Amino acid sequence: MNDCLFCKIADGRIPAKKVHEDPDTVAFEDLNPQAPVHLLVIPRAHVGRTTELRPEHDAVMGKLFRVAASLAAARGVAEGGFRLVMNTNADAGQTVFHVHLHLLGGRKMGWPPG
Ligand code: AMP
Ligand code: ZN
Repeated sequence: MNDCLFCKIADGRIPAKKVHEDPDTVAFEDLNPQAPVHLLVIPRAHVGRTTELRPEHDAVMGKLFRVAASLAAARGVAEGGFRLVMNTNADAGQTVFHVHLHLLGGRKMGWPPG
């Protein structure tokens, strides 16, 4: 989508600290990190929110989790533990409407989440 922030990051129109790129997904550092490790993993193709997912997105959504787990290992937080979060809509705090998987790690996480 032309005016979407994360589409612009994915295609390089807006800079970001990218840590992974492949034909289907991009991962980059969150601008306002909530943990020592806080990365966002996104599909290149625009999908606004999880409620808009269609069957053709199944493969890339699965890949987001595999990329995230691999990045967690690369950052040294896989064994200690990490959290993967995908917020949908206002009550969950979604602010950017291009689906993104938060990878949070490097500190003890609370439960239930805030
Ligand atoms: P959410 O609230 O789940 O929609 O998450 C949006 C995330 O995007 C927040 O954690 C923001 O800190 C992050 N964010 C917003 N703008 C940027 C940006 N330009 N580069 C990197 N992360 C961003
Ligand atoms: Zn987008």
